[in-house]
Amino acid sequence: MSGSVEYGKCQCCGKEAILTRTYFYYDIDCTCCGSIHNGKKTHFELIRHCSKCVPKEPTTIKVHLTASKYKVD
Ligand SMILES: [Zn+2]
Ligand SMILES: [Zn+2]
Repeated sequence: MSGSVEYGKCQCCGKEAILTRTYFYYDIDCTCCGSIHNGKKTHFELIRHCSKCVPKEPTTIKVHLTASKYKVD
């Protein structure tokens, strides 16, 4: 066996199951993730779900930003 199997509550159906991780990437220069995806600073949302569920893209996301970058006069 390789890697670790994650067991817990599916974020889609709420049942306890072996979970798969799906990431949704956003072209946002956030300070919470610090990830680079396709050469760009990217925010990602992680959905943990069972093998039966197809995760939907989240309708709302929480992002941490550096406020000064976005300040307007
Ligand atoms: Zn599920
Ligand atoms: Zn982020």
